[in-house]
Amino acid sequence: MKSQQIRQTFLDFYKSKQHEIVASAPMVIKNDPTLMFVNAGMNPFKEYFLGISESKHNRIADSQKCLRVSGKHNDLEEVGVDTYHHTMFEMLGNWSFGDYFKKEAIAWAWELLTEVYKIDKDCLYVTIFEGDASENLDRDTEAYDYWKEFIAEDRILNGNKKDNFWEMGDQGPCGPCSEIHVDIRTPEEKAAVDGASLVNADHPQVVEIWNLVFMQYNRMANGSLKNLPAQHVDTGMGFERLAMVMQGVRSNYDTDVFTPLIREIETITGHAYGKTEQEDIAIRVIADHVRAVSFSIADGQLPSNNGAGYVIRRILRRAIRYGFTYLNKKEPFIYMLVNTLSKQMGDAFPELKSQKNLILNVIKEEEQSFLRALDSGLVLLDSMIVNAKSQSQNIIDGNKAFELYDTYGFPIDLTALILREKGMELDEAGFDKAMAAQKERSRAASETTTSDWTEIRSDDTQEFIGYDKLEANVRISKYRKVTTKKDGDLYQLVFNMTPFYGESGGQTGDKGYLESASGDTIYIIDTKKENGQTVHLTKNLPKDLESNFTAQVDKNQRHRTSSNHTATHLLHQALRKVLGDHVEQKGSMVRSASLRFDFSHFSKVTAEQLQEVENFVNARIREQLPLEENRSNTYEAAVEDGAMALFGEKYGDVVRTIKFGESYELCGGTHVANTADVWHFKIMSEGAVAAGIRRIEAISSDAVKDFFAEQSRHFDEIKTILKSNTKNPADAIAQLQDENASLKKEIEQLLKAKAGNLKGDLIASAQQINGVNFIATQTDLDAKSVKELAFEIEREMENLFLIIGASDGEKATLTIIISKNLVEEKDLNAGTMVRELGKHIQGGGGGQAHFATAGGKNPEGIAAALDAAKEMV
Ligand code: ATP
Ligand code: MG
Repeated sequence: MKSQQIRQTFLDFYKSKQHEIVASAPMVIKNDPTLMFVNAGMNPFKEYFLGISESKHNRIADSQKCLRVSGKHNDLEEVGVDTYHHTMFEMLGNWSFGDYFKKEAIAWAWELLTEVYKIDKDCLYVTIFEGDASENLDRDTEAYDYWKEFIAEDRILNGNKKDNFWEMGDQGPCGPCSEIHVDIRTPEEKAAVDGASLVNADHPQVVEIWNLVFMQYNRMANGSLKNLPAQHVDTGMGFERLAMVMQGVRSNYDTDVFTPLIREIETITGHAYGKTEQEDIAIRVIADHVRAVSFSIADGQLPSNNGAGYVIRRILRRAIRYGFTYLNKKEPFIYMLVNTLSKQMGDAFPELKSQKNLILNVIKEEEQSFLRALDSGLVLLDSMIVNAKSQSQNIIDGNKAFELYDTYGFPIDLTALILREKGMELDEAGFDKAMAAQKERSRAASETTTSDWTEIRSDDTQEFIGYDKLEANVRISKYRKVTTKKDGDLYQLVFNMTPFYGESGGQTGDKGYLESASGDTIYIIDTKKENGQTVHLTKNLPKDLESNFTAQVDKNQRHRTSSNHTATHLLHQALRKVLGDHVEQKGSMVRSASLRFDFSHFSKVTAEQLQEVENFVNARIREQLPLEENRSNTYEAAVEDGAMALFGEKYGDVVRTIKFGESYELCGGTHVANTADVWHFKIMSEGAVAAGIRRIEAISSDAVKDFFAEQSRHFDEIKTILKSNTKNPADAIAQLQDENASLKKEIEQLLKAKAGNLKGDLIASAQQINGVNFIATQTDLDAKSVKELAFEIEREMENLFLIIGASDGEKATLTIIISKNLVEEKDLNAGTMVRELGKHIQGGGGGQAHFATAGGKNPEGIAAALDAAKEMV
């Protein structure tokens, strides 16, 4: 069965069991401080498990893109080395939110695998949770009893807490789980070793394919478990592993999910897959990583220096260096795989098709710059080796290797490899120590302790009313304390309803205050969105938590932010009008002070185009277009109607649309009521952020007024300085520049003339001493003129010894020139002499025997130096 069909069969099966089929959420998570990437199919439904909001459907199934490269689930080091862990993979899942539980979950999983997919029952093993005394948890006999209706009891194995108790994170929903494992070894292999003994033992052909999680507890901050209000089912089956079983192959990489990529890598690199272990690993790493990186870029996450972007950069770099080291690829080539990937997966994931060029360009540029870094790293490593050898050491210090790794991104295994080839050793212990120290530093810096929520009222619904109101009468529903190194103690408050906009969709959160009936005022320093709820941050708690409060949003700040958000939509529209439809939003930041908009476009936006864009936006502002808002559209209907949706954005069942004239977008942010409220729009800068991605920074409303006021002030200052009454001081400045240039010329000529006169005088002043034409003089010429003068005299006079002392009043120089024949005949040396004479001017110098100079800080000493020179001659 082809992989496409395997995926579809899964969805069809659960549809037949009354599940709502939904699309994969984006893999990159934008509004969750606790998680950067989706690492399990359940993440997008977290808020339902936590009971923060209720799902419209109590049964859902989907195929979710997951990435396991950071945090609690990190498989990166396994990927490529083994044949069944990926960075990015698809997780097929079915969910019950307070609906069916263990019985149905087990029965359906069995039906699908054995009757629909027709996997041989004798290949399957299942595990159940054996219980844990320290947690006071019993064995999951319930699951056991359901399983034994389908499968021989000797194929039901006990599993410990590590394997059979699933937890989302350090806190949150969790519960026992039951895994399904396959044994796809040959009959001979099976006869030799019992499959049951290989379950959960890292055997590449005895692997877990499906995990059925039964969520029934909530892990509290103090580590204790509390029953969840309702029981849920959360299952996840590895799509690529299922494909391996269904297609009768022994590795995920031999399925049609990967073979087209592997064939392409073979063609590009000239290395065949299946020849040597090292090269095979490299090929698998590249085939895997190009998927992870491409999907992230399509979701809007570009490689960068921090956060999620840095994770992506590291994945790509891992692929590059495997290619570099084991496939001998010193030029970019991974980007060439994007075509194949988009052809192969573009139907299921259209974002790969529509953004192919962008993905390709970004990867290519990353490859180029990392290959350059590898080059400079190699040079540095070479010099370290030479250095160590010169001190007859054959080991490279761990700190040095760490510096190479940390500053230049130079991978440690490559360092070790090169050292080995050159018969050197790496101080691995030292490297590990340096690495551990850095990890500890960053852990300490980002350490967060989060207490459990204290509920004040449990029946509150948390409503956002901030589109219509900036002030409201609210109560606190719950609060908790969050402590970080950076911010110290902060409190997070959730209200029954709130006018405060929580940071999301690129728009920053509202600030404001909370005032109790008794006049107690608490400032809200920021508002965020977490798991779908609006969280208000304060530095302290109100005295009376049960009181009613007036919640007041900072109006000015909100107005400026809304104005910038509306301007952002108009800018987006303008860019598509002026530059073309290929322009896609790639990130935006809407703050009160300014806005920032990243978009795909392949060349610099010209000054004329920028002007055109600015004019377009300002024309829409002048048209006074009213806000047309729809808060209760479905995604399909809105897109059908022409509203623009963004890739990598997670949209709910009900979407909100924002329309100003022809600008029409899905958007959850705040906007002004009429484009006229934006007042004016001004672009401040345009530049590149990555290959094919440009960034515009702009301002609107009050900020434009402030900007022009400041410009005008500068202008007045300039006019005052110029004492110019002309309308256009540029003319006056140009005139000053002209004057300045001609004065410079004049000075140069005067200096030349002066030097010319001096030359004649000096030649005439020469004294005969011991057959030497001795000239000594003091002048205020600059260094360049002195040198020219010295060489001119030397050309015109034989047997010359010339010393010039020059000073600008603060510093002093001595210049000596000696005819070349004298240097030999009389054994005179300008270099040694000038060093000696330099002492008189409190300085030092040197040069050749023929010409030398010294600099010092004592002009008074020049006369003495000249006298001493005469003595020497
Ligand atoms: P394993 O022990 O094999 O790492 P897991 O216990 O981490 O698996 P779960 O967190 O239970 O896996 O995820 C559910 C399913 O997702 C697994 O049964 C497996 O089929 C699949 N899966 C998990 N991690 C990966 C991965 N890195 N690459 C591909 N598939 C994976
Ligand atoms: Mg795992």
